[in-house]
Amino acid sequence: MKIYNTLTRKKEEFKTIDAMTVKMYVCGPTVYDLIHIGNARPMIVFDAFRRYLEFIGYKVIFVSNFTDIDDKIINKAMAENTTQADVANRFIIECKKDMEAMNIKKATYNPLATEEVDGMISLIEDLISKGYAYKVDDGTVYFDTLKFKEYGKLSHKNLDDLQSGFRNLKVSGENDKKNSTDFVLWKPKKEGEPYWESPFCDGRPGWHTECCVMAPKYCGGRLDIHAGGEDLIFPHHENEIAQYEAAHNETFSNYWMHNAFLNINGEKMSKSLGNFYTVRDVLNKYDGNVLRLLMLSTQYRVMLNFSFDLMESSKSSLERIVNCSENILFLLKNKNNTIAQDNDENIFENKNELYDYINDVLTDESLTKEELDNLSEIKKYVDLYFDKLDDDFNTADAITQIYEVVKLVNSKVSDNSNILFLLASYQIINCLSNTLGIYLKRENQNIDKEVEGLIEARNEARKNKDFAKADEIRQKLLDMGIELEDTRQGVKWKRI
Ligand code: AMP
Ligand code: ZN
Repeated sequence: MKIYNTLTRKKEEFKTIDAMTVKMYVCGPTVYDLIHIGNARPMIVFDAFRRYLEFIGYKVIFVSNFTDIDDKIINKAMAENTTQADVANRFIIECKKDMEAMNIKKATYNPLATEEVDGMISLIEDLISKGYAYKVDDGTVYFDTLKFKEYGKLSHKNLDDLQSGFRNLKVSGENDKKNSTDFVLWKPKKEGEPYWESPFCDGRPGWHTECCVMAPKYCGGRLDIHAGGEDLIFPHHENEIAQYEAAHNETFSNYWMHNAFLNINGEKMSKSLGNFYTVRDVLNKYDGNVLRLLMLSTQYRVMLNFSFDLMESSKSSLERIVNCSENILFLLKNKNNTIAQDNDENIFENKNELYDYINDVLTDESLTKEELDNLSEIKKYVDLYFDKLDDDFNTADAITQIYEVVKLVNSKVSDNSNILFLLASYQIINCLSNTLGIYLKRENQNIDKEVEGLIEARNEARKNKDFAKADEIRQKLLDMGIELEDTRQGVKWKRI
C-alpha cells in the first residue's frame, strides 16, 4: 500500500514500526461549539482509513484528542458565565453524538489536553534543559526555532523566508521573543482564566504542545501516522515535530497525512458569508451514511466542494446500492432463505476471509456457467477496489467499483438465480461498503415494519378479491409517501 507523505511530498510504500500494529494519531476538534462539516472530513476520512487498515490485517491504535482548553472555549465560558470545563464537556458530548451518527468508530483513546498538563510541563522543562526553549521575564516559555535545524521540513518552508514574513507580525505581548518564528510553549495566566502551577509561572500550555505529549503517551512511542486537515501542516504540525524531535532525538511520525479542505459552493466556509453548516444541520436532513458517502466520494487530498445538490446526488447513489442489496434479500426471501441482517458489522473479518469466500463460491458446482462468469467479473471489480484503496487511499475510485458491482448484479439477478450467487452478491456489496464504514440500511427500520404490515394486509385483501380494501391500503401508503409496484417477484415499495 502506498500513501502520500506530506513530509517527503511523495507517495511512499507503507511500512510500520512494529510489524502488524499501526500507531495513528489524528488531531481532534477544539470543543467550543457544535462541529462543522469541515471538521467532519478528517473524522470520516481517517476513520475509513483506520477501518481499511484493520480490514487488511493491522491492529490499529487510534488516538484522537479533544482540545478542551483554548481562547475560544474560555471566551465562550465567560460569555455564558460558566467554566471552560463545562463548555468543553458539553460540546464533547455533542461531538460524540455527531461522530456516532457518522459511523465513526470509537477511538482507542480520546485524551483531553487539560488532563495531560503534567506531561506538557515535563516536556517543556526538558526542552529548556536541552537549550531548545527559553523563558522570558513575564514567565512565557518559547521554543527557539533557530536551534532546531530542521524547522520547516514538514511545510517545506525556509526559515529565512518565514522570518521575514513574520517580522512585521509580532503579536502584542510577544516582544521578548528571540526570533519572530519562535512559538509559545507556556503562557502566563490571565485574570479569570484557568491555570496550572508550573516551574515557569502559573499559566497554561500553548496549543502545539498537547499533541506531541499525548500522541506518544497513548500510542506507545513514536508514530506511524499523524493526520489532520491541511491547515494544520503549518504551524501546528511543524511545531509538534520541532518539540518532539528536539526532546527525543528521533523521528516523531513516519507518515504525515493531510486532508484537503471542504469548501461550500466554491467558497471557504464562514459564518459571515452565511455558508456555514454544522454536522447537526446536515444530519437533521440526511442520514449519516449519505454524508459519509459524499465525503469518501472525493479522494482525501482533493478539495471537496460541498453543496446540498451534492448531498441529494449522494443520497440517490446510496439508495442505488441499498436497493440492490434489498432486492437480493427479497429474492432470497422468496427462496425461503434469510440472511443475518446486522448491517453494521462487516460480514468478513478481513480481506483474506473475503477472498477465501469468493474463491470457494467460484468452485461451487451448483452455479451455472453464466453465474460463475458473472462472479469472476465481480471479483475483478473487488480486486480493483482494493488496488484503488492501496493507492493513497483513493476512496473515490474504490466506490466507483461498488457501483460497477451493483450495475452488474442488477442486470443479472432474478428469481431464477442460484441462492449461492445471490448470497455472494449480497455479501460482497455489503462488505465493500462496510469496509469504508458505509452501512446499507433503510433509513427508518420501524417505518419498514409498518409498511410491510400494510403490504401484507393488501395482499390478503387482493387474495380475497376485496379490491376496494386493497386500493384503500395502497392510498394509505401513498399518503405515507410510499409507492407500490407489483412485479413478477412480488410487491416492491419505494419512498417518493
Ligand atoms: P479545529 O477544531 O479547527 O482544530 O479543526 C479540527 C480538524 O478539522 C482539523 O484536522 C482541521 O484541519 C479540520 N478542518 C477544519 N476546517 C476544515 C475544512 N473546512 N475542511 C477540512 N478540514 C477542516
Ligand atoms: Zn494536534
